[in-house]
Amino acid sequence: MAFALKGVAYVTGAGSGIGQFAAYSLAKQGVRQFALLDRNPSTATITELKKRYPDVSIKEIELDVSNEGAINDSVEQTVKEFGRIDYALNNAGIGGALETTDKIELSDFQRILTVNTTGVWLCQRAQIRQMLKQEKRSDSERSYRGSIVNTASMYGFIGPSLNVPSTAYTTSKHAVIGLTRADAIAFAPKGIKINALCPGYVATPLVMSSMSAGSVMDNERIKVPAQRVANMDEIGDCVAFLHSEASSYMIGAALVADGGFTIQ
Ligand code: NAD
Repeated sequence: MAFALKGVAYVTGAGSGIGQFAAYSLAKQGVRQFALLDRNPSTATITELKKRYPDVSIKEIELDVSNEGAINDSVEQTVKEFGRIDYALNNAGIGGALETTDKIELSDFQRILTVNTTGVWLCQRAQIRQMLKQEKRSDSERSYRGSIVNTASMYGFIGPSLNVPSTAYTTSKHAVIGLTRADAIAFAPKGIKINALCPGYVATPLVMSSMSAGSVMDNERIKVPAQRVANMDEIGDCVAFLHSEASSYMIGAALVADGGFTIQ
């Protein structure tokens, strides 16, 4: 699978999990300039990227995606360093509050929506404003001024399992698909491609640590038709695909990678 990606990537939540492996997949497909953003250090990602691809240039930016000013600054810093943003991945997100509505405090509900939904929208707005200023890389009709991928979830279009209530998370991810579609329609005519990625269960440290034998999460794993959770590199490769010319006619898609969970 070769996508020949050329340009600058901007990845939030780059310090761990899906963001980390998306950076590796983008580098595998040719990206050599990275802005890596996370509220925590992205040290592990940077070390591994440099080991695998010694010619990468990386700008690490500490960023909390609930901070509007810091997001706008981070886009400015990226453009100052690399000249443009070609491939944005708005991926930073949190889980938590696995409760039904009657047991969730307003502050917990708002915190999850602030990071998972408003954070994605703020990043997308800053990226769109930048991408509108930059030219397409080529005259090809498959080329865009820039491409944006938002990490939603399969819980962006289905409700949670009865035994794993997650009202706030489910709400936040449905909204990510909504803001992806709304802006995809508005900005496709202006040469910006925007899509969402909807993973099922992925073998990130957090998910794996909650899958002890017989646990509620282990029961969820057993329900996956593929009979396993996704490896992080499989989801990273989906990000590279959505940024590539192979997906050039996909606008506002919510690409599902869930091992068949949601079609049952
Ligand atoms: P993770 O915890 O391994 O990584 C998330 C990263 O986001 C962390 O490095 C964290 O520091 C960062 N982050 C969290 N809040 C932030 C904030 N306010 N500002 C900046 N950075 C912040 O989790 P992951 O599983 O890789 O999750 C990445 C995305 O994928 C999330 O949006 C999550 O909802 C989504 N997702 C995960 C799964 C799964 O099974 N792991 C499935 C579907 C969707």
